[in-house]
Amino acid sequence: MERAALLRSTPLACTRFFLHLHRRRPSSPFRHLRRPLPPSRSCCSWRIISSSSSSPSSSDGFPRGFSAVPARAVAAPTQPSPEAIDAAEQYGFEKVSEEFIKECKSTATLYRHKKTGAQVMSVSNDDENKVFGIVFRTPPNNSTGIPHILEHSVLCGSRKYPLKEPFVELLKGSLHTFLNAFTYPDRTCYPVASTNIKDFYNLVDVYLDAVFFPKCVEDVQTFKQEGWHYELNDPSEDISYKGVVFNEMKGVYSQPDSILGRASQQALFPNNTYGVDSGGDPQVIPQLTFEEFKEFHRKYYHPSNARIWFYGDDDPCERLRILSEYLDNFDASPAANESKVESQKLFSKPVKIVEKYPAGDGGDLKKKHMVCLNWLLSEDPLDIETELALGFLDHLMLGFPASPLRKILLESGLGDAIVGGGIEDELLQPQFSIGLKGVSEEDIPKVEELVINTLKKLAEEGFDNDAIEASMNTIEFSLRENNTGSFPRGLSLMLRSIGKWIYDMDPFKPLKYEEPLVALKERIAKEGSKAVFSPLIEKFILNNPHRVTVEMQPDPEKASRDETMEKEILAKVKASMTEEDLAELARATQELRLKQETPDPPEALRAVPSLSLQDIPKEPIRVPIEVGKINGVKVLRHDLFTNDVLYAEAVFNMSSLKQELLQYVPLFCQSLLEMGTKDLSFVQLNQLIGRKTGGISVYPFTSAVRGKLDPCSHLIVRGKAMAGRADELFDLVNCILQEVQFTDQQRFKQFVSQSKARMENRLRGGGHSIAAARMDAKLNVPGWISEQMGGVSYLEFLRALEEKVDRDWDEISSSLEEIRRSVLARSNCLINLTADAKNLQQSEQFVSKFLDLLPNNSPVSVGNWNSMLSPENEAILIPTQVNYVGKAANLFETGYKLSGSAYVISKYISNTWLWDRVRVSGGAYGGFCDFDTHSGVFSFLSYRDPNLLKTLDIYDATGEFLRELEMDDDTLTKAIIGTIGDVDSYQLPDAKGYSSLLRYLLGVTEEERQQRREEILSTSVKDFKEFADVIESVKDKGVVVTVASPDDVEAAHKDRPDFFQVKNGL
Ligand SMILES: [Zn+2]
Repeated sequence: MERAALLRSTPLACTRFFLHLHRRRPSSPFRHLRRPLPPSRSCCSWRIISSSSSSPSSSDGFPRGFSAVPARAVAAPTQPSPEAIDAAEQYGFEKVSEEFIKECKSTATLYRHKKTGAQVMSVSNDDENKVFGIVFRTPPNNSTGIPHILEHSVLCGSRKYPLKEPFVELLKGSLHTFLNAFTYPDRTCYPVASTNIKDFYNLVDVYLDAVFFPKCVEDVQTFKQEGWHYELNDPSEDISYKGVVFNEMKGVYSQPDSILGRASQQALFPNNTYGVDSGGDPQVIPQLTFEEFKEFHRKYYHPSNARIWFYGDDDPCERLRILSEYLDNFDASPAANESKVESQKLFSKPVKIVEKYPAGDGGDLKKKHMVCLNWLLSEDPLDIETELALGFLDHLMLGFPASPLRKILLESGLGDAIVGGGIEDELLQPQFSIGLKGVSEEDIPKVEELVINTLKKLAEEGFDNDAIEASMNTIEFSLRENNTGSFPRGLSLMLRSIGKWIYDMDPFKPLKYEEPLVALKERIAKEGSKAVFSPLIEKFILNNPHRVTVEMQPDPEKASRDETMEKEILAKVKASMTEEDLAELARATQELRLKQETPDPPEALRAVPSLSLQDIPKEPIRVPIEVGKINGVKVLRHDLFTNDVLYAEAVFNMSSLKQELLQYVPLFCQSLLEMGTKDLSFVQLNQLIGRKTGGISVYPFTSAVRGKLDPCSHLIVRGKAMAGRADELFDLVNCILQEVQFTDQQRFKQFVSQSKARMENRLRGGGHSIAAARMDAKLNVPGWISEQMGGVSYLEFLRALEEKVDRDWDEISSSLEEIRRSVLARSNCLINLTADAKNLQQSEQFVSKFLDLLPNNSPVSVGNWNSMLSPENEAILIPTQVNYVGKAANLFETGYKLSGSAYVISKYISNTWLWDRVRVSGGAYGGFCDFDTHSGVFSFLSYRDPNLLKTLDIYDATGEFLRELEMDDDTLTKAIIGTIGDVDSYQLPDAKGYSSLLRYLLGVTEEERQQRREEILSTSVKDFKEFADVIESVKDKGVVVTVASPDDVEAAHKDRPDFFQVKNGL
């Protein structure tokens, strides 16, 4: 995805800023996505103060448990029309039940397809962001990854759409607001979303045809490509394994957090389907045969085993008509019985297991152990009331930095960061997991003891009232606001409903939270919180023998041992082959590659329905903005309906900061939110924020500004509250900015350890963003600033700082003070407000008071940031089985002048050239390019890539690809429409107001947006050809950064001596 992002919207990650108040849904190591998300390399990824990783599955980082319900205040309920009832009969469905769900102002009707038994939830309301999803129960009985490989493969061509990858055609040329697929441990889910009705129907049809009539069940080559195969280019060379899922899972198995999550799940459920890995264990994947693969599809991808979801403002009758066309092709099957998930019987005594994970040999291995305690809470699924109470308990124990279990674990000094996701209720039986990483071996029993003792103490003493109020307000706020970020509301609703429906429970109940929440509140008020929560802790956790303690030990040899083992297996395979076999394998390798690299014929491409340019609005989506002043300070106001929530940003220019203080800024931000004042302890301050607001976050924002030398660099304080509490919101923002004291040395030390653990995690899980940041730092000053605060340089800084905290605390503390003095000034400030007109007007007095209280000094010095990293190619070594490879150059420096066509072209390069070569034939999980239209930096990046130099050769051949490109009108139109889909991506009101702020800061005017749009719409083949010359500069002058395994770098150096400067990452 291009950095065109900023022109259009808040980049993906920005919508998650508030989530540091909640814990994120554990980035489900068990949920696999069809495609990795493009790098969120802009300054956003490291701003999320407590996110744990930037792995692909973190895209859905909405607050756990409670937010997944839409609520729109003005929506008028849609009643089912009489036609809908007739339509059901006409199309072969019977109505099972129907309810009006007031929480989401929707009418939800459950239908059963009479012939096959397929179940359909049809949800009607006024949400234009329409969602469709089809879900099959797909419990595996081994770890060959069948469900996952099938999830990838069915989207590779179908009966009506006989081309290589209709999925990619949709990525290229539709207006989708969501397009992906997920594999869970027991189900596979295919969701799409769009606001454009014609586009929506196109997406639905391609997905339905894909799941029911895929080509992959006849075509072994797709299975090989997406699953696994032996690759042999020449009989004299070694055989290797290739396959998209194979490499994706190698990446997953290189990450300690994923290994821990998997080990915990498998040990908790030794006797049912959750005891194996639906994603696939790289050591087991090669046991999968094509016959088993086909049989799995035949058995489970059947209407009798399907649950189908429609949501939005489209015609409910049409939904049934579309479905009947597919479902009527089938007869009933016993699939639904065969796919039932059996529950795990509870243990009679606790279990302990020890696993090894691949660690680098740098650093102190002694403090690299991990330990996690896991409980299986119940043999049977729980009722909604109990689940809600447990969800509340989870928030009380872990929801805020000040929540007791989280706080005590981190303050213990026994480890660096928390592992385990708390209460998890996505599977048939709920679990609870908690532990620490960065622990010394001898401290492991102490961590166990501490967890148990803390839980005992909580059961005995209960929670204080302020904590209860803070959790209650936070949960109610997030329910009311229902901010699902870039995730369509209808999709989060679907995932919530399906969580019960998939186990044959009531699909309506999970949508109706209000009554049980009121009941819970009343119980707490009447009986006291202790009476409510203590029995839960005792019954489900303390007195529950089904406990599994997982210890993970660092093993610096594991990565190379796994690699050697793989090589040995492959050598044996080769030794067992005759000369003819080898020649045949080389031929098959060649044939597969040829197929992968041959473009689809135009007729096949035309089969995928697309919009025409006439369907596209000629003007960009405009966000209302009024620029005014209060007390001499600039204030931006966005009059938008926000359901009575006020969103506010206070933005401070950071350019007066001394360069040597830059690296302290992220920790400065965390200190503001997580240290106390003279009058309030950190716990009290934290609870106050939870009780009065919907959350406050603080983070730096840096970007280049086109045509200017000076970077745009700001500190942003973001807050939200019910509009009636605007005064309290601004009081609290003022309090954290001005009154927080930087005196708590021990807490600061924890921040450093946590940040270090987080950065190390990112290096393994999101090495592409680390490589991107590093290249940026070699190419421009804003990139250098960002890397100082979020790249390898920052990790190095944190490592040194960890020791310095003990030695030079006074100096650190005064550095934090100095940042406050340099940045916090009225003359440095800008305010951004998003709410409806009435609430905007009412909040004015509080803004004015807030501004009055800001120091009136003018910044003394001006920071002179003029650094960049040296431009050598660099390899950052980590223990991994797959690499991240990047190459970049600044196109503006070659004299290139930005045109909207660049968005179309770079998207096209990502979705064709790089997708085909880096992913499909190279075997990487992802390959992208990224164009920062503010700095001019154009980068190529790969994700979980088995190759290194080969990938660079593909990047270098991009110019040639463009030059030789033959493109018909249909293809060009699709590329343009897909780009408009990105530019016009769906945004909730807070994201609209925030994007408008960023555009203001970066000097992107409405005229420019209009001009870019016209340039996008009028992009021609000639533009593609001309861009070929521009992009040659990446080949000729580009800088290379890879995050890779030592073995692969060594091998690369045999080919190209001294190509990289080598640096140890882990
Ligand atoms: Zn996948």
